[in-house]
Amino acid sequence: MEWILSLFYPRRCPLCDAVLGPDALDGVFCRDCAGEAARLSHNPPRLPGTEHSFYALAGAASPLYYTDVVRRAVLRCKLYGRPWYAREFADLIAVRIFGAQPAVPGRRPVFHNETGLPLYHLIVPVPPRHRTLAPRMPRAMARRLGVVLHLPVQEALTITRTLKEQKTLDLAQRLQNTRGAYAVRPGTDLTGKRVLLVDDLITSGATASACAQALLAAGAAEVFAVSAAVTEDLPRAKEKQRP
Ligand SMILES: [Zn+2]
Repeated sequence: MEWILSLFYPRRCPLCDAVLGPDALDGVFCRDCAGEAARLSHNPPRLPGTEHSFYALAGAASPLYYTDVVRRAVLRCKLYGRPWYAREFADLIAVRIFGAQPAVPGRRPVFHNETGLPLYHLIVPVPPRHRTLAPRMPRAMARRLGVVLHLPVQEALTITRTLKEQKTLDLAQRLQNTRGAYAVRPGTDLTGKRVLLVDDLITSGATASACAQALLAAGAAEVFAVSAAVTEDLPRAKEKQRP
């Protein structure tokens, strides 16, 4: 099925829209973009707790810095008619964070969980900031990650009130804006569950932490967050290599 679909909808590089061949970097980026993709990769993907506010999270990880071509790719995915890039970002998370083998054309990344124990019990996408907004990128990423990592996806979270746009807020305002803003859907039992939370972006960590708090209150044992990209200052060495 995946292979047949790929004939009609070939996978494309989210940075430049070129059709991907067998030489794609991590199965996601074309050769022309490999340099920028490497420069903007967050290595290691685990995010430093010193730069974000992860009060309710066990931790968080993201494969890319949210700047330059990555920022444009995320915005195209979220807002400007390229929703299928969510698949590439999800595959990148599977490869860089969970050690899946990169996809070859017409196939998905291959993930073997060698421990035999569930990494996580379920995947939960972060809901949109406003009830009327279509839950786009986090949901699409969560579904793809569920397929690749063989984990169930549950849209367990809702918002309790409309949130202000976070972009212009500082950390204290973001924490205030998101406090108590998320709740678990009635009847959801998360007792003892380890949850993988999926969002498009992590900036301060306030949103992911507020979501984690709601999940923990519903009995979850642990919440770890992943995102396509993270807002952090680029290390100086990477800054210097900007083309
Ligand atoms: Zn490209």
